Amino acid sequence: MLGNLGENLTNTMKKLVGMSVIDKKTIKEVVKDIQRALIQSDVNIKLVLDLSKKIESRALEEEPPKGITPREHVITIIYEEMVNLLGSEAATLEINERPYKILFLGLQGSGKTTTIGKLCRYLQKKGFNPAVVCTDTWRPAAYEQLRQLTEEMDVPLYGDPNNKDALDLAKKGLQEFKNRKVIIFDTAGRHKEEADLIAEMDELDNIINPNEAILVIDGTIGQQAGEQAKAFSQATDIGSIIITKLDGSAKGGGAMSAVAETGAPIKFIGTGERVDDFEIFDPERFISRLLGMGDIKSLIEKAEENIDEDIAEKTMNNMLTGKFTLMDMKNQFEMMNSMGPMQQVLNMIPGMGNKISKEASKMTEDKIDSYKIMMSSMTEEEMLNPKIIKQSRIQRIARGSGVDESDVKELLKYYNNTKKTMKGLGKRSGRLGGGAMNR
Ligand code: GDP
Repeated sequence: MLGNLGENLTNTMKKLVGMSVIDKKTIKEVVKDIQRALIQSDVNIKLVLDLSKKIESRALEEEPPKGITPREHVITIIYEEMVNLLGSEAATLEINERPYKILFLGLQGSGKTTTIGKLCRYLQKKGFNPAVVCTDTWRPAAYEQLRQLTEEMDVPLYGDPNNKDALDLAKKGLQEFKNRKVIIFDTAGRHKEEADLIAEMDELDNIINPNEAILVIDGTIGQQAGEQAKAFSQATDIGSIIITKLDGSAKGGGAMSAVAETGAPIKFIGTGERVDDFEIFDPERFISRLLGMGDIKSLIEKAEENIDEDIAEKTMNNMLTGKFTLMDMKNQFEMMNSMGPMQQVLNMIPGMGNKISKEASKMTEDKIDSYKIMMSSMTEEEMLNPKIIKQSRIQRIARGSGVDESDVKELLKYYNNTKKTMKGLGKRSGRLGGGAMNR
């Protein structure tokens, strides 16, 4: 679908999931990848730049909502902005009158005839029995093509290859099928200009008085599709669009975004030559698929697990080798939140559970929270080398986190005690060969 666009975007999202840090640099890199993919798909440069700017500024400025990781947040922003690029809301075909008269327009070769067949199949499945009227008086082959198509699907067709009066054909077809639920009028697709399409619509409009005019646009023409859609939607307020040939078309992204920009509703897309290669167009579902969001969710879960495991392993190693810093202690607190009580974590390591459990169980959640707040007022240097935290730094940290100096001292005491205990345990567990850590 859409040439390589889907593949490129899915790979970008996978790359984003695999990144260990989400920061300004990685966000810029991801945005660059998205830009490249969209431009290759003929999306208008201005649209691409607007989109990148929005993704970048939202990703850098917005705080992730509670419970959402920065990674998931960036993914959500990309998804939302891509959906907006395609007009956000799904426009549906509503058959709300009887007969519901649909006028089909489209340049020759756009896939109009094929699409009429597809729409008939779609309507049949929904229980509406459509009929087709052929008003194309220019191409004798047009009637024959429709005849074969409708015959296969048991769809009644009205037409007369010997009648050269399109308006007369429309009138007679309307009479023939006046009791049907849906009547589809095919028109001649000989035109080269948007203006001709509009003129034809106007002529037939008086006689048919359609409920809906559908313009079929060939997706392989890329962003040029915008011009056709614009002229069409300015001329009628009952117009909707079907974009065809999006299977494999390298320029499909350009066609879709350009049409969406005009505000004309895209109702269906054609994704192949067969009668079932036809879909209702829903921007959210479409973008989900294009970005490979189904896989992304499980990838995120896996990545978060791996990152947790990496941190856990490093923290544990530091504990055992006596390199335990305040940074490790902070990680330890976070792990307690995500993996359950510290005791459980330590119970997984032979010989470790008993001793630590007494220390850890004394820690209430409130205490842990207040320790975490104090630690967030420390510099990275202090966290990695707590020895340098003397009186003036203690004062600053207390002020920064709104607690008493004695609280900071208590935190440091807890840290020193934990470190001492860890060291002792590390020596003992050395006999176990550290195997438990590497499992
Ligand atoms: P018309 O002249 O507008 O009536 O166009 P046709 O319906 O005859 O289609 C022109 C060509 O485009 C035919 O070869 C169709 O098989 C092909 N076509 C139509 N829709 C699609 C589509 O969604 N995907 C692909 N790959 N080909 C399509």
